[in-house]
Amino acid sequence: MLDIQKIREDFPILSRQVYGKPLVYLDNAATSQTPKCVVDKIAESYYMSNANVHRGVHFLSQEATNIMEQSRRHIQRYINARHPHEIIFTRGTTESINLVASSFGEAFLQPGDEVIISEMEHHANIVPWQLLETRKGIRIQVIPITPAGELDMEVFRGLFSPKTKLVSITYVSNVLGTINPVKDIIDTAHRHEVPVLIDGAQAIPHLKVDVQALDADFFVFSAHKVYGPTGFGVLYGKEQWLDRMPPYQGGGEMIAHVSFEKTTFNELPFKFEAGTPDYIGASAFSTALSYVEKIGIENIAAHENELTQYATQRMQEIPGMRIFGTARQKGAVISFLIGNSHPYDVGMLIDKMGVAVRTGHHCAQPLMHALGIEATARASFAIYNTREEVDIFIESLKRAAAMLQ
Ligand code: PLP
Repeated sequence: MLDIQKIREDFPILSRQVYGKPLVYLDNAATSQTPKCVVDKIAESYYMSNANVHRGVHFLSQEATNIMEQSRRHIQRYINARHPHEIIFTRGTTESINLVASSFGEAFLQPGDEVIISEMEHHANIVPWQLLETRKGIRIQVIPITPAGELDMEVFRGLFSPKTKLVSITYVSNVLGTINPVKDIIDTAHRHEVPVLIDGAQAIPHLKVDVQALDADFFVFSAHKVYGPTGFGVLYGKEQWLDRMPPYQGGGEMIAHVSFEKTTFNELPFKFEAGTPDYIGASAFSTALSYVEKIGIENIAAHENELTQYATQRMQEIPGMRIFGTARQKGAVISFLIGNSHPYDVGMLIDKMGVAVRTGHHCAQPLMHALGIEATARASFAIYNTREEVDIFIESLKRAAAMLQ
C-alpha cells in the first residue's frame, strides 16, 4: 500500500493555496510537479559540483563529467537501452523529434518518400515532418482514429508502400489517454523494413518502458513530465541509426577536430550534443528516476488508473458530460466537455475553486478537427493525487455546470 499523504509531503507546492483554496493540481500531463529531492539535487549541483563538463582536467570538471555520464547510464538502464551512447541529451521531446526529423531526414529521406504519423499526434510530432514536406518534398500519411479514440490498425497496415521510410507515433495520447499498441506497430513496420520513432512523452510517467523489448528505433521523452526538471529530455536511438545520421547542430563538444579545411565529428552521443549540455538537468533527472524507482512505476500506474476510473465514473453524475477517448487501454488523462459550455469557462470557474485543469486544443489541433470540436478541458493525474481531490474536482464541476447553465 502506498502512503500517498507521505508522498505528498515530498512536493511542497501541493500545500499551496490558490484563491484561498487548497490547490488541486490536475494538469500533470502538461507538467508534473517536482519533488524536493530533485530540487535539492539541482541546488546541490550548483552549490557543490558546478563546472563545465568534458573540457577540464581539474577536479570539479571531472566530477561534473562523471555525474553526467552516471546519469546517462541511469537513463540507459531505466529504459533498457543497449548502450549508454544511444542516450542523447536534448531539451525535451520536441527537440528530440526535431533532431530525428532533421538528421534522419537529411540522411534517408528523398522527395516523394513517406512518413506515417497518426491523427492523435501532438504538434511536436506533426510540424517537424511538415517542415520536411516543404524542405524535402516528403509526404505525410496519417492513421485515422476510431470513435473510441484508438488507432485504426486496419488502415495503418494498408498505408505502407515502397516509399514509406519512417513511422512516428505517440505511445500515449495526451488528449484521449489512449495507450497505443506500439509493439504491434513496430513489428508491422519492421516487416516492411521501416524504422519507428515512439513519442514517449506521456508514456514515461505512467508505463514501464523497455526500448529493446519494444524494438523501438527511436524513443523520445521529456524529464518535466516525470517529476524531473524542465528543459531536459532524451532521444534514445539505436546505434545503427544514430551512427549513420549527420549532426543536428554544430559547435563545441560535437567535433573531433576542426580546421577551416575539414572538420571531423565526435563519436556518439557527443556528435548530437553540440555546446554545453544541461549536465545539471541530467543529474536532476536521474534523481527523479530514482524517486520513481523507489515508489515503483507499476504502483504509480495502478494508483493513477484507480483515480482515472473513479473520476471517469463520478463525472457521469454531471448532466451533459462528454468524455473524449474511451480506449480499452487508457492512461491517466480525461478530456471532457460539459454540454455546450466552453471549456475555457469551465476551466476558469473551477480554477477559482482551486482546481487546475488544462483547457484548449492541447497542441493537437488535427485531432480536435477529427473529433469535430475546438477544444476540451483535460484532467490528468499523478502519483500525489488523491480520491479526495477527485471529489473536490467533481464538486467544482457540478458548481461550474450549474453556473454555466
Ligand atoms: N508529445 C506529447 C504526446 C506530449 O504530450 C507533449 C507535451 O505535452 C510533447 C510531445 C511535447 O513535449 P515537450 O513540450 O516537453 O517537448
